[in-house]
Amino acid sequence: MSPSETATQEAKTLSQPPCNHLQQFGIQRTKGVEYFPGGFCPVSTKIARVSVVVLAILVVSAVTVSCTTRFKPPRNAKESQRTLLTTGYCKCGMCTNWKRNWRLKPVVASGPRKGKRKDVGITATGTRAKPGTIAADTSLYPFGTVMFIPGYGYGRVEDVGSAIKGNHIDLYFNSHEQALKWGKKNRKVKVWARR
Ligand SMILES: [Zn+2]
Repeated sequence: MSPSETATQEAKTLSQPPCNHLQQFGIQRTKGVEYFPGGFCPVSTKIARVSVVVLAILVVSAVTVSCTTRFKPPRNAKESQRTLLTTGYCKCGMCTNWKRNWRLKPVVASGPRKGKRKDVGITATGTRAKPGTIAADTSLYPFGTVMFIPGYGYGRVEDVGSAIKGNHIDLYFNSHEQALKWGKKNRKVKVWARR
């Protein structure tokens, strides 16, 4: 006899039919018959289930909104358009020049700050890098400059890079694979300089 059959049979011996979900759970829930004799189906269980579903929907939508809501052009900002070389990057050691030292702590891999502690995934402005984070030459595009890159969307200059000079920007992606997939592209980029 399978566990679910046991549950069904036990349930049948009761004077009233138990609520459906006692049968669904099989052997682990045969005890449930004792908890809720007479097939009493607790309303609180249903409410709990509904609230779990509602909570899950809320969490998913919040995550979706926070991931897709990027930057908007500032009001009264002058819009200009220029062709920029765009490359993809992520927070990995290859993209942002870090490695682990002998204590497995992330450190800067090369350059004048070689061996210094590296906060992985934190931009030059101290924000957490996320899709929409742009690394640029801040002498041309200061921090806070909002851009629109066709195929990528809105972004804001929050980071720098040793190889990011002139009309070359780096676009942040969540994974190295995505960054590589973007590769190197010339794009007509809309730029809103912050005043
Ligand atoms: Zn990477």
